Amino acid sequence: MVEQVTLYRAPTTEADADTIAAWLAERIDAEVRVRDRFLSRYADGDLPEELADVRVLDPYERETGNTMLGIVRYEERALEHPERAGGVIYDGQALQRLLHHRTPADERSLSHLHVPLLDRVVGTWGGHDGRWHKRVNVLGQPALVSVPGLYEAPAKPERYYKEQQKHAMLSGDAPPREVLEEQVDGEFLVADDPRTTEALKGYILQAYHYLSTGEAFCDEKGCRLHNAHRQPAVVVAQLHGTEFCPRHAERYRPSA
Ligand SMILES: [Zn+2]
Repeated sequence: MVEQVTLYRAPTTEADADTIAAWLAERIDAEVRVRDRFLSRYADGDLPEELADVRVLDPYERETGNTMLGIVRYEERALEHPERAGGVIYDGQALQRLLHHRTPADERSLSHLHVPLLDRVVGTWGGHDGRWHKRVNVLGQPALVSVPGLYEAPAKPERYYKEQQKHAMLSGDAPPREVLEEQVDGEFLVADDPRTTEALKGYILQAYHYLSTGEAFCDEKGCRLHNAHRQPAVVVAQLHGTEFCPRHAERYRPSA
């Protein structure tokens, strides 16, 4: 039985933890609180090296970690200045263990779910296809929710990547968002998308749902508990139409 949920802010991102907490509190039977950034609050002297050790080095290599001094220094800086971090994927389950150790000892039981919103990209290893997959969330305790993962993990429409490539060949840099949106059919979220907070609500509810029912995701495409693999499906699940399938609408009806 989850009695308490604590969200942690990701202040350098578009995600508004307080808005998400208010939405959640209306729908679940647990107390919801918000704290400041997890990595600022609970980082200690060992964390930079431990983060370096759970970095994914190669998308096709299970083995992670490079604890050379330069990398550890980078991690130190990225903890203090998250706006300068980027381009790195971390092993989500290993990171989850690192953060679990740093959660206050008297708050580690499953009745108190912790959900750090992260300014980092996390992934999980796909044993079936031998590569790392970026994730929006990693369920469990704590449950990780990656804000950049929302933009990067679910695949964008094919055409997006083609346009991006074409533009890079012509001008050597990334095309502006407006160009891509105009050229590409189908909806998708881009970095710092103004719909970030709205889209993340369902991913945070998934963390609660998993811990309180043992059920991971919902198969219904229009349900906030659906685990969409492609951007247009994220938009359908999180931003369009009804919030839940009939079964979950019953469970998560807002209390007046
Ligand atoms: Zn559902």
